[in-house]
Amino acid sequence: MSENRSEREFGANGHAARLFAGLRGGDVRALARAVSLVEDGAAEAAGLLGLCREVLKEMKRPLRVGITGPPGAGKSTLVDGLARELRGQGRRVGILAVDPSSAFTGGAILGDRIRLAGEDAGVYFRSMATRGHLGGLAATTEDVLTVMEAAGFDVLLIETTGVGQGEIEVVGLADMVAVVLVPGMGDSIQGLKAGVLEIADVFVLNKADAPGVERLEGEIQEVVGLSGKTVPVVKTVATTGLGVAELLGVLDGLRQRLTSGDKAQMRAEPIMPGMNPRPTLKALDSAVLDHLGIAVRSIAESRRLYEALGVVVGDVEEVAQERVRVAMLALGDSRIELLEATEAESAVARFIEKRGEGLHHVALQVPDLEAAVERLRELGVRLVSETIQVGAGGHRYVFVHPSSAGGVLLELVEAKR
Ligand code: ZN
Repeated sequence: MSENRSEREFGANGHAARLFAGLRGGDVRALARAVSLVEDGAAEAAGLLGLCREVLKEMKRPLRVGITGPPGAGKSTLVDGLARELRGQGRRVGILAVDPSSAFTGGAILGDRIRLAGEDAGVYFRSMATRGHLGGLAATTEDVLTVMEAAGFDVLLIETTGVGQGEIEVVGLADMVAVVLVPGMGDSIQGLKAGVLEIADVFVLNKADAPGVERLEGEIQEVVGLSGKTVPVVKTVATTGLGVAELLGVLDGLRQRLTSGDKAQMRAEPIMPGMNPRPTLKALDSAVLDHLGIAVRSIAESRRLYEALGVVVGDVEEVAQERVRVAMLALGDSRIELLEATEAESAVARFIEKRGEGLHHVALQVPDLEAAVERLRELGVRLVSETIQVGAGGHRYVFVHPSSAGGVLLELVEAKR
């Protein structure tokens, strides 16, 4: 069959459609080409992803397991062990190894691992590097995972080379994350980024036959204890396969929780590229837009326009601690807050001096401010003040620093109880 004829058969997006048909039919080479297409951001990628998303609506999505940890923790060996275990159970497994620090996809790290796959169509291995992806590494990874999901794997293992910020974002795309640690890493566990411990759904103590494993386990238990979560700890010796079956059992157990809980609901929704889709920020689940704060030189001047438009402007109140006067404009369930500085040294005065009048902050209303603040602290988000503030009329609020909120000052206010 000539290329031209199939182009005609499949229409303008023939290439994408052919690859899609191939990967759906279990053709590993078609899958590999489809992944490359998406990874390269080729013109046909959008069409291909559209086809994949369409078919995924009808499919049971595979379980996505993120495997992360510092370099040298034996993640690759562990992932290979998990793949063997899964194959032994007759489950098809796709492996995506992501290396944000390398400019090369494929290459050396592929060598041994291709052998694992061999002629077995039930295993697919792919490595991916950054290569300056336009939409960011996490977004590209999400697209690649979508293509792999459409190929009908039962489990996808997402492995990272290290535990940098990019890698944490990547494993954040998984339903659950295993953080792999080994004894005697030099750094103690406290040396790891807070974010790494935060994302762990299970800790794997690999090289559990090496000295120092009890100490490491103790440190992990301590950290887990402080977090108030229950995070299972599994000991493995990946090189001999010891504990790998147990780890798989734990992951499957976590999946049970996941399908019965709210995570499953999250997965049903399309995932925003680059966003951590895990529903960790429960305290913000039912947040609504409360108001937009606009810094103005004069409330008296600015309110005229709104009043002329029939908007009801509330009383002007002074908020001494913020050194501002505010007036609230009622707009359905939301409001506009006009802010006028009372002192030249106030934040609002400095804002106007620097940037002129304009949008000063966005305020979300949350059901439980305490919980939200606690969660933000865990996530390492920068708050403007250390404690919850009490404003005019007794409402409670905090400000999230623009550096943690995409350049916009973000206010969280507690819903009136
Ligand atoms: Zn406000």
